[in-house]
Amino acid sequence: EPLHGTYRRVLLKLSGEVFGGGRIGLAPDVVRGIAQQIAEAVREGIQVAVVIGGGNFFRGAELQQQGMDRTRADYMGMLGTVMNCLALQDFLEKEGIDTRVQSAITMGQVAEPYIPRRAIRHLEKGRVVIFGAGAGMPFFSTDTVSAQRALEIKCDAVLMSKNGVDGVYDADPRTNPEATKFDKVTYQEAITKGLKVVDAAAFSLCMDNGLDMIVFGMEGPGNITRAVRGERIGTLVTT
Ligand code: UDP
Repeated sequence: EPLHGTYRRVLLKLSGEVFGGGRIGLAPDVVRGIAQQIAEAVREGIQVAVVIGGGNFFRGAELQQQGMDRTRADYMGMLGTVMNCLALQDFLEKEGIDTRVQSAITMGQVAEPYIPRRAIRHLEKGRVVIFGAGAGMPFFSTDTVSAQRALEIKCDAVLMSKNGVDGVYDADPRTNPEATKFDKVTYQEAITKGLKVVDAAAFSLCMDNGLDMIVFGMEGPGNITRAVRGERIGTLVTT
């Protein structure tokens, strides 16, 4: 029995680490595999918008530790996400999927500006919309932005994919062999237990607005379509 009804429009959040294959820069084979999964979902009629992180290039908080001004470092982080957007756009177009990149920081040569109603039109036409540059504001994360974009363009769920994480656990599975994965968990529980797999700000934005989230791994073929159909893959987070 499925965990939820089939979603029609989803916001897929990919962490930058996924794109880098765990290293700095880009892992083209990984990006190609992701593009193939997204293309498969689009061909099944699912509307897919994407937010990509930039952790494979820069994280503002890390550059701050090395002495940089936080806000300037955060802008560097945001610019990194745009490179990931262009990489995904390229591999999606090789799969025959139409795409648009919309950036929260204006850069007309490579991306449209973020215009929510236009993004919805693209999705209705079967195009994948890839959101870059986060919120365009320092001190935010791309997790939080993915919840905000999903709400603004009226997605049915946020699909959250991080490198090496296949769901929400009651403890850190990398350090605690006893950790068990939830099939389902509420936002309230995730927040009170301090489960840090996703930013608390993203959790609370989804909780306050009744938006479903699925935390899952992209490692299996067809995982996006499986998550969209409610198969038991990853963890469903709900109110
Ligand atoms: N960032 C920001 N504002 C945003 C989104 C991102 O300042 O709205 C910066 C921030 O420095 C962050 C970096 O961009 O560390 C990369 O994004 P994130 O850490 O969310 O990427 P991920 O961990 O998902 O790869």
